[in-house]
Amino acid sequence: MEKEEGKPTFLLRGIGVSPGIVRGKAYLYDRVDEPVTLYKLTNPDLVAKEVKRLKKALRESERQLRELKNNLGFMAGAEPLYIIDVYMMILRDKAFVKGTVQNIEEALVNAEWAVKMTIDRYRAVFEKVTDHYLRGRIADIEYVGQRVIRSLAGINKPVIKDLGKGVIIIARDLSPADTAQMMMDKVLGFATDMGGKTSHTAIVTKAIGIPAVLGLETLTAVAKTNDEIIIDGTSGIVIINPDQEMLKRYEDKKRLYLDAELVTLKYARLPAITRDNHKIKISSNIEFLEEIPTAISCGAEGIGLYRTEFIYINRESPPTEEDHFQSYSRVIGQNGLAWTNIRTFDLGADKVFAEAKSPREANPQMGLRAIRFSLKEKELFITQLRAILRASAMGRTRVLFPMISSVEELREAKEILGQVKQGLVAEGVPIGDKVEVGIMIEVPSAVVMARDLAKEADFFSIGTNDLIQYLLAVDRVNEKVTYLYEPLHPAILRLLKQVVEAGHEAGIPVSICGEMAGEPLYTVILLGMELDELSMNPLAIPRIKKIIRRTSLGESKALLNEVLNYSSVAEIRKRVESFMGERFPEEFSE
Ligand code: PEP
Ligand code: MG
Repeated sequence: MEKEEGKPTFLLRGIGVSPGIVRGKAYLYDRVDEPVTLYKLTNPDLVAKEVKRLKKALRESERQLRELKNNLGFMAGAEPLYIIDVYMMILRDKAFVKGTVQNIEEALVNAEWAVKMTIDRYRAVFEKVTDHYLRGRIADIEYVGQRVIRSLAGINKPVIKDLGKGVIIIARDLSPADTAQMMMDKVLGFATDMGGKTSHTAIVTKAIGIPAVLGLETLTAVAKTNDEIIIDGTSGIVIINPDQEMLKRYEDKKRLYLDAELVTLKYARLPAITRDNHKIKISSNIEFLEEIPTAISCGAEGIGLYRTEFIYINRESPPTEEDHFQSYSRVIGQNGLAWTNIRTFDLGADKVFAEAKSPREANPQMGLRAIRFSLKEKELFITQLRAILRASAMGRTRVLFPMISSVEELREAKEILGQVKQGLVAEGVPIGDKVEVGIMIEVPSAVVMARDLAKEADFFSIGTNDLIQYLLAVDRVNEKVTYLYEPLHPAILRLLKQVVEAGHEAGIPVSICGEMAGEPLYTVILLGMELDELSMNPLAIPRIKKIIRRTSLGESKALLNEVLNYSSVAEIRKRVESFMGERFPEEFSE
């Protein structure tokens, strides 16, 4: 699906309260509180009348909640029903009812205003409570109060109606009852400005199993009904009007999320060692720091690719050195992560957030992107490099330059890095002892020049996403040519082998960090290449480990050598699919 022209992309971070990834159309649910007007009761007869109105509204509210509970009967025993019980208890609570009646009798005000006074009084008390959970409970009383006020106003239609199926609800706030009611409409997910991990809405969404991100603060200010939206309830990320590249990434993540759940527990913690004792390093690609816990729990040994361009999203001005440093110091040296490959920003091209800076290019994939952009915008580059080097004092750090297409580019980038290092040392700023410098091999010329590049780099990381695009001349985000985007193309396999050999001849390690590394179908072929490391979407790790542990380097090399003789994609694909299907029937049976 095309990103609608003119709609800006926003990325927001909140609290992921219910895991899972969904994508759909946003529906802005605006719960407008009923306006409450004050009437003074001038005539004593009116007092009894108002008390009667109040009691009737309390009964009506209770009836509505009971009805909602009955409608949700299929979820018996689940959290939402318990919360509705809590609401009914508040409605019957002596202090709540008596206090409100007293407001009518003593302050001589209408029932609506009396309810408002009661809520205000509770709010004042709850605001003083230090316990986060308890303080959050005022939301329940406010919700009940609103129900009563609506009943007094004669509004008894459900708060939400006619949502349509398959929407993602965005709202300022959602009560657990709203949430429970909406799920009957088969809502895909929820995202709200307010709310936290312990809010009832969080508990309800989790119990129902619908992905949700709360506490986004500015969501309803930027998102509108019908905007395309992605919710990642695992990492707490919400993307509004994603571009093609993000959509594709999240489609993959979504699929992997479902698979990973099943195999995570068993394989995540085990090392990636083949039956004949060949060890391969497994690391994670991340775009956001929020993915680090998933990377660790899925079994990543390090971060093989940190796509730092995501730090630039949603900003009017570029991030400062401190912004960069804050990000890197939260990943480098993290317990459980033995190394971090920080790729300098790959801005330009399809990375939307560069739009502000550079005018639209006719052919952005081959335009001023990645290292080309860095070498042109040196100030931005230096700012990032300073932050990376400062953070390198905290643990093993490897700098990775994207889109290197010649030795000159590598030399120039290293030269700048060297100057930055000298500057920091002169300032007395501590930096890591040895910061390795690697390059992404993702442009065909870099493959041809791999032997020369290997003499000047500490490691190679092959970016198959771009390498396939450039080698086969297939735009990676153009769905009209996806049928040509073929990782098993003989030209790709031969090139990969060449890169590994060139790296190893020079004594440097070679890894792959393109999506290909996380696709189980290609695992045995990649093992046969004798790559040193596979870096992938964290959710893919457990399944890839499972395959590695059940295969041997010997059989992997044999399969690779066999298919390297084939000259057509069809032959290779057929052989690889039948090999994998026979060896791992449980993984590849449809
Ligand atoms: C790649 O090109 O394979 C890669 C890992 O980088 P990106 O997907 O960010 O371009
Ligand atoms: Mg790339």
